[in-house]
Amino acid sequence: MAREIAAPGRTKEILEHHGFSFKKSLGQNFLIDRNILEKIVLASKAGSEDGVVEIGPGIGGLTEHFAKAAKQVEAFEIDGRLLPVLQETMAPYPNVRIWNEDILNVDMRRVLSEDLQDVQEVIVTGNLPYYVTTPIIMNLLEQRLPITRMVFMMQKEVAERIAAEPGSKNYGSLSIAAQYFAEPVKTMIVPKTVFVPKPNVDSAVVRFEIRDTPPVQVEDEAFFFRVIKSAFAQRRKTLWNNLQHNLTGREQREELGAALQEAGIDSGRRGETLTMQEFARLSDSIQHRLH
Ligand code: SAM
Repeated sequence: MAREIAAPGRTKEILEHHGFSFKKSLGQNFLIDRNILEKIVLASKAGSEDGVVEIGPGIGGLTEHFAKAAKQVEAFEIDGRLLPVLQETMAPYPNVRIWNEDILNVDMRRVLSEDLQDVQEVIVTGNLPYYVTTPIIMNLLEQRLPITRMVFMMQKEVAERIAAEPGSKNYGSLSIAAQYFAEPVKTMIVPKTVFVPKPNVDSAVVRFEIRDTPPVQVEDEAFFFRVIKSAFAQRRKTLWNNLQHNLTGREQREELGAALQEAGIDSGRRGETLTMQEFARLSDSIQHRLH
């Protein structure tokens, strides 16, 4: 049997054979540790009837493991130079389809309804390119796609922000947005040494169980997220200052004061101490007063 793609020796051979040179600007750090790959597949709970969407297959190290575990894999790779490589490495896996596309331009709803209509659950995965991790995750979450979960490798620092609880230094608008659409759990920390080339920072794997309904009900979701963004605009400032400067303006300070009071939130607090429930209450109160 051929050696696994992610085995260090085979990865080196594949790269040399194709004369491939890494592009840092595309976040190309390939995984060369089968234990980590197996753990990602395990965390994804992918079964033999499930479909997988992979973001950035690279030379196919992770793709190969999902091809063995799942029914169908649709993989999107932006770098056209990797297509001939993947054609070769994925040859033994007829259940893998490679697309040369930027994931941010993919019509995911179409992929789910046309390319993955014969699977039970859909899981989205990837060892994400660092330069575009947050936009990829938020774009997928905000679309409210009919997917079960997502499992991503990312920079450890981003994983900590996503999973952060109120009151902690990593808690911010990214934590709330991610936790509004999903239940994110950090499943493992991954050292730099399992990648070629080695990145500068450690990584972590996060599993997102997609929620059917958000944990809080708000009257206007877009406004709720505007309130949150404003509250975190300058972390060292109080809620009062941030909201007045970035949301309501000075003219509406009375309405803002009344809304904070109605929501039972002390205006001297900082955004990072508010729970999602408090932000929901505050958002509805401000909206009632302003409109
Ligand atoms: N999955 C492989 C692995 O784990 O070894 C490669 C992971 S590497 C961190 C990220 C991959 O995503 C690269 O192959 C890169 O070319 C690709 N990529 C970068 N930006 C992308 C985008 N916007 N859409 C799709 N793929 C992208």
